[in-house]
Amino acid sequence: GQPVCECYDCYGGRDCSELSPGCAADAESGDPVFLEPFWMQHAADSAVVISGWHRMSYRYPDYTTMSEELENYIRKLHSLVGNAITEGRYLVFGIGSSQLLNAAVYALSSENSSSPSNVLASIPFYPMYKEQTMFFNSESFQFEGDTNSWQSNNWTNNMDVIEFVTSPNNPDGELKKSVLGGKTIYDHAYFWPHFTPITGPSDHDLMIFTLSKLTGHAGTRFGWAIIKDKDVYEKVANYISVADLGISKDTQLRVLKLLKVSVEGDGKPLFEFSYNKMRDRWDRLTAVFSKSTRFSIQQRHPLHCNFFNETRLPSPAYAWVKCEREEEDDCGAVLEAGKIIGRSGSIFSAKDRYTRLSLIKSQDDFELLLQRLTELVALENGSI
Ligand code: PMP
Repeated sequence: GQPVCECYDCYGGRDCSELSPGCAADAESGDPVFLEPFWMQHAADSAVVISGWHRMSYRYPDYTTMSEELENYIRKLHSLVGNAITEGRYLVFGIGSSQLLNAAVYALSSENSSSPSNVLASIPFYPMYKEQTMFFNSESFQFEGDTNSWQSNNWTNNMDVIEFVTSPNNPDGELKKSVLGGKTIYDHAYFWPHFTPITGPSDHDLMIFTLSKLTGHAGTRFGWAIIKDKDVYEKVANYISVADLGISKDTQLRVLKLLKVSVEGDGKPLFEFSYNKMRDRWDRLTAVFSKSTRFSIQQRHPLHCNFFNETRLPSPAYAWVKCEREEEDDCGAVLEAGKIIGRSGSIFSAKDRYTRLSLIKSQDDFELLLQRLTELVALENGSI
């Protein structure tokens, strides 16, 4: 009969429960919807209602109290998880961590030097670093590309370097360390127990975190920087103030509510949910890839997690798939022919022999991805 509602892309039938047979699995974006069921379980205690007359002002009535309370919750969460030192450090909020990435580049770049600071990252890297640095087109900084080629070519110790260190890395999940030993921006978007064993607190000069990959509320647009040096802190804070007069109070109120739920039970309910979900996805994914010689995924090595007090395998947000056959050097196209949409290696300045598949989308998305991968690997073994 006629559908009773409009169905999402891949679904049809009267109640939208039937999967369309030819539908592609979309594993392209890093939308962290895998956490939605946790928040459904906490629907009432995580809800925020704001009356029309509430918090209309730029700052009055209690701008500082709310921001301070939020800061305290962020510090508490880091101390519970054990993933970052916040004692004696400054915090700055941003519109997502995206805004803070460029604020950090600005703050670390040398104002008075005649030549711009050199901004680098290690391949494969998150494309936003390059995109932003080029887009803002400043006289104070320029994007110089890959740390490894820089290291072998023209690196000398007195050069002014700002290095993005993404740990765990997007796309391959590696726990990266600084390569060049200059100024660093540690992007810790994925440094939470869902994705990696927490081996110890990060203690770097400038660390950036985001709500997006912690609670999954990417649309709320909230991130924070943890900064050791007062001058750098003031520059980052000034950037946010000049760009936006600070970040939305409505957002801060929602984040406060979400973090209050996140720290309940010392963070165990949230992180057990998120880790179990990611582990389950990785178990099923590795079972499929273990039957393939045509495709491989990144190696994972067990580490001791201080938070769970147990040795565990990482369960990264993305699978970094390699097409192993010599002639299949456009892995994205190979997967697409098998009705799987990923993000090609070249987007991360790597080879197109690699493709990133997102594992943090909804359960339906993951089920379809696994189904398409299973079909593709079965084809390789001649069983269908
Ligand atoms: N850093 C990394 C490594 C990311 O993968 C992302 C989002 N995919 C971000 C920063 C930005 O996230 P947001 O602006 O939502 O905090």
